[in-house]
Amino acid sequence: MGGGPAGLTAALALSAAGVATALIGRRGAGDHRTTALLAGSVIALETLGVWESCRAQAAPLRTMRIIDDTARLIRAPEARFEASEIGLAAFGHNIENCVLVAALGARAQEMTALKRIEDEASAVELTATDATIRLKGGDDVTARLVVGADGRHSLCRTAAGIETDARIYPQTALTFNLRHSRPHNDVSTEFHTESGPFTLVPLPGRRSSLVCVLDHAGADEVGALEDAALAEELERRAHSILGRFEVEQGRGRFPLAIATAQRFGANRVALVGEAAHLIPPIGAQGLNLGLRDAATIGELVVGVHRQGGDGDVGGATLLERFDTLRRADVKSRSLAIDLLNRTLLTDFLPVQGVRGLGLYLIDRIGPLRRALMREGVAPATSQPRLMRGELL
Ligand SMILES: Cc1cc2nc3c(=O)[nH]c(=O)nc-3n(C[C@H](O)[C@H](O)[C@H](O)COP(=O)(O)OP(=O)(O)OC[C@H]3O[C@@H](n4cnc5c(N)ncnc54)[C@H](O)[C@@H]3O)c2cc1C
Repeated sequence: MGGGPAGLTAALALSAAGVATALIGRRGAGDHRTTALLAGSVIALETLGVWESCRAQAAPLRTMRIIDDTARLIRAPEARFEASEIGLAAFGHNIENCVLVAALGARAQEMTALKRIEDEASAVELTATDATIRLKGGDDVTARLVVGADGRHSLCRTAAGIETDARIYPQTALTFNLRHSRPHNDVSTEFHTESGPFTLVPLPGRRSSLVCVLDHAGADEVGALEDAALAEELERRAHSILGRFEVEQGRGRFPLAIATAQRFGANRVALVGEAAHLIPPIGAQGLNLGLRDAATIGELVVGVHRQGGDGDVGGATLLERFDTLRRADVKSRSLAIDLLNRTLLTDFLPVQGVRGLGLYLIDRIGPLRRALMREGVAPATSQPRLMRGELL
């Protein structure tokens, strides 16, 4: 349930393998945010036959820079990561969410085992043997498993009685797409400021997306600027590394929080994407985790489905396995991002020192840097088959 990128990917993974699937969710009005899809996610989308129609509209990320832009006493040196250092042409590709969702939606229409229901769920009722979704339009859908991909305020999660561990940050992310006068040369640049990261990520041509994390008052101030004044202010914050800015239509605003479901599956519900975990936009991890959730639940369900009559696709055994397979990946990334974000916000000198030392060591010690890059792109503990280019 849920027609965002995680739900569409789960529905595609299941239906491409012949599992009868219903996708409940309205088509979105369009999201101007972009997603940096890391290499494994791109391979999964290639395998599902989606990437071909995205390729021309996505920009490769060949270099990533982290620059300490704080005015603090202890500042970290710049860290620079090259994809070629770990044998990749690119860490991944950046693409507008509306383009990605449209491509997933178009591919979903080609799946004969997939029925798309353009409606919203008003209630999810769960029993020991099945799940019934009541639709606002008046119909019901009954299934053995509900994949809850219904975002941060997930109805599926509540219906399954799953709590979250959550924390709200004193920060808001503003998102913009920009045209600029200088080329980005496929380099993504993350400035670390006292209020959070300010991240420029390449789009095709002389365009980039920007995620600017500020405290709430700062976000109100910057968000209220008219286009011309805004372009100047953003260029100043970017130290003009991409020359003059022009701000495109479509601004976004996202209050930041972190939340992890205490279980990723229970009572005939498997949670994927932001229904399962919400993390701040640092290091391009959120949807990459969501796509690994989708690929994993697809793999488990297809495995049971192929066994024939004996297995239960929504049963406790499968859901426990799903939880086990996803927990380390989600936990480790959530923890790292939470720590990084909190070290940016604190003025406590020893913490600044540790962060600076960490970035210094990463920059100077090749094996450490390469290990981190490999882990950032593709976690050693969680590589579902779709991420390895294998159809389910
Ligand atoms: C500023 C910002 C930048 C980001 N950048 C990156 C990045 O570079 N890389 C990355 O990997 N991640 C990134 N993320 C995270 C990424 O955007 C999210 O992980 C992703 O959008 C979540 O997708 P989803 O499908 O889980 O949820 P959503 O996109 O929220 O989709 C949920 C869907 O469920 C539907 N729905 C909800 N309730 C119901 C209901 N009752 N019935 C039917 N449908 C329902 C909604 O309408 C929606 O379509 C970023 C996030 C932010 C805020």
